[in-house]
Amino acid sequence: MTGQRELAIVSLYPRDMNIYGDRGNVLALTRRAREHGYAPRVTEVNPGDALPEVVDIVIGGGGQDSGQGRVAKDLSARAGEIRALAGDGTPMLMVCGLYQLFGHRFITHTGDELVGIGVLDVETRGGGERMIGNIVLDSDEFGEIIGYENHSGNTTLGPGSRPLGRVIQGAGNNPEDGVEGARTGNVIGSYLHGSLLPKNPALSDFLVGEAARRRYGDFDPVAPVGETVMRARESAKRRPR
Ligand code: GLN
Repeated sequence: MTGQRELAIVSLYPRDMNIYGDRGNVLALTRRAREHGYAPRVTEVNPGDALPEVVDIVIGGGGQDSGQGRVAKDLSARAGEIRALAGDGTPMLMVCGLYQLFGHRFITHTGDELVGIGVLDVETRGGGERMIGNIVLDSDEFGEIIGYENHSGNTTLGPGSRPLGRVIQGAGNNPEDGVEGARTGNVIGSYLHGSLLPKNPALSDFLVGEAARRRYGDFDPVAPVGETVMRARESAKRRPR
C-alpha cells in the first residue's frame, strides 16, 4: 500500500542465534506491525553485514555457547553503533544468548569469557544446572508474560537495569532472585523463548509503539488482541513446568 509508514526491523544474527523458534518473534512482530497499519521491512544482519541506514527495531534470539562464540566478536565490533541506537531510544528485544551478550560478559561453564557490549547492566555465569521449562512472569508494564526457558547461564542485574518481571512459575535470571529479564531504556533482555512474541502481543506493541513514536512522533494502537492469542496464552499457562 502506498503512503504506509515503514518500520525498519533488524533481525540480528538469525543464522547463529535462532533457537526454540526465536525466528517466530520476527514473524509475530512484522504481523503485529502490519495490523497496526505500518509497513515492516526486515533486514537480516549476520556477522560481517552492515546495519541498514535506518533502524527502528532490533530483535535477536538465543543459541548455544558455540553460536554465541561465533557472533561475540562481530557484536563487539559494532558495539558503538548499537549503543548509540539504544541510547537514542531504539526499542530492542534480545532473547537468551543475545540477552547474555548485551550484558557486560558471559563466563561459560568451562570458564571462557565472552565479552558483551554492556547495553544492559547484567552479567552471566554458566552454571552446572540447566533451568528448563515453562515460565510465567508478572510485570507492571506488560501484565502476565508467558514463555519457555532453557539456559544454564545465571544472570545478575546491576543498578543500571531493572527486571522485566517477577517470576510466578520457573527460574528466571537465576534460581535465587525471583526476577526475570532486564530492561534499560527501551532495550529488553529476556530468557523467554516460546516464541515469546506470538504469545505476548503486549511486548510486540511496546516495540512497534516505541519505534513509531520515535520515527513518526505518534502511535495509535488500532489492532485488538485476537481470540486465538488469548487461547494460546491460557493453554501455555496451564502446561506444567
Ligand atoms: N548458552 C546459553 C545458556 O545456556 C544460552 C542458551 C540459549 O540461548 N538458549 O545459558
